[in-house]
Amino acid sequence: MRKLEVDYIIIGAGIMGLSIAKSLLDVKPRARIMIVEKERELGLHASGRNSGVLHAGFYYHPDSLKAKFTKQGNEELAKFCEKKGLRINRCGKVVVAKDEKDLEILYELKRRGEANGVELHVVDERELREIEPNAKTFQKALWSPNTAVVDPREVISCIADELKAKGVILELGRTYRGRVGKQAISVGDVTIEFGRLVNTAGLYADKIAKDFGFSRDYVVIPFKGLYLNYRGEDKFIRTNIYPVPDIRKPFLGVHFTLRVDGRIKLGPTAMPCYWRENYSGLSGFRLYEFLETTFWNLKLLFKSSLVRTTALEEFKKYVKSYLIREGLRLIREMGNTSSWEWAPSGIRAQLVNVRTLELVQDFIVEGDEESVHILNAVSPAFTASLPFARYVVEKFL
Ligand SMILES: Cc1cc2nc3c(=O)[nH]c(=O)nc-3n(C[C@H](O)[C@H](O)[C@H](O)COP(=O)(O)OP(=O)(O)OC[C@H]3O[C@@H](n4cnc5c(N)ncnc54)[C@H](O)[C@@H]3O)c2cc1C
Repeated sequence: MRKLEVDYIIIGAGIMGLSIAKSLLDVKPRARIMIVEKERELGLHASGRNSGVLHAGFYYHPDSLKAKFTKQGNEELAKFCEKKGLRINRCGKVVVAKDEKDLEILYELKRRGEANGVELHVVDERELREIEPNAKTFQKALWSPNTAVVDPREVISCIADELKAKGVILELGRTYRGRVGKQAISVGDVTIEFGRLVNTAGLYADKIAKDFGFSRDYVVIPFKGLYLNYRGEDKFIRTNIYPVPDIRKPFLGVHFTLRVDGRIKLGPTAMPCYWRENYSGLSGFRLYEFLETTFWNLKLLFKSSLVRTTALEEFKKYVKSYLIREGLRLIREMGNTSSWEWAPSGIRAQLVNVRTLELVQDFIVEGDEESVHILNAVSPAFTASLPFARYVVEKFL
């Protein structure tokens, strides 16, 4: 078996693995950094299958890591895209209410926005019409001018190219198989000895963390986000349109996104999956994972009425017409309801606390002198990636 020695080994080449390598290089330009990625191309999981929205940072509780990094991440990633000539749509977003109850949450979001230093405006129906003539709301809406949209695959491949040019070894098609010593792992037929290991394996981050004695209280439960793309030529929206979310859940609700190519996207849903990479059909099926995920899904369903009602509601969204109707709650009219087609789905690596059976809301980082583990890098980790990575490097590496 071949042996390799590096200063830092990073597992997973999603936005988090790449951003951490970028940040490490800033402080240790001579470090030998290797990233191993099990897929043969970039962006096959969350980092390439998301809405591409650079969130402004107002949803998150002011004490959270999400609040700490999102506003800054939005600014940095937007600048990065502009500097590198990547497409960015700075169209902003509106959050619309459906009833009186939503208004309470809307004002809570406004308070969070203020605490997080995010520019956010409460607008009335007349003002909303000027910003987005097609959006409808109950009395008030939120206008976030700094929300933007990028193409996530363009972003990650640009960062990867930059890293390779600076000497980072990016090994695609190489899977972490397990730990073979205190500071050694097996990757395919190679043993890699490392100074520090960084685990950013997304849907498998909890499993790898457990090999190092971490993630004891957590398990990843995958939640699928289905999307529809509009193939009609009419542009019936000019900004992103989101519903007021249920802030007890870590999901933002089905929304319209205006992609960088001008096309409109509707979604994502947030439905429980049967196994971790359960994108379609039997792809990625593993019996053990199926049993494990089913076990935790059933536990959650029994424990929480919120999860029960969410699951019931979400399963209806497998029906295209139902999902389109969800979209129609946010707008006045849509060109042609038959012009929607299913688009690639994304799966969230949502962490559940096995003791409290709660869906974890914030990012979690655990680690010691040998390894550091990025857990629950769910939305808005794409937006937050650059400052979040810097925090991991400064605090843990
Ligand atoms: C439907 C959906 C919509 C979203 N929308 C947004 C949004 O609009 N804005 C936003 O900011 N965020 C959004 N997010 C969240 C964002 O996509 C994620 O937070 C982010 O991509 C997580 O990045 P990551 O690097 O941690 O994970 P990933 O992108 O999943 O990368 C992990 C990588 O690790 C690799 N890997 C796993 N196991 C191994 C192994 N054993 N060996 C080697 N490699 C391995 C995987 O192949 C994968 O490439 C969304 C997510 C989803 C699912």
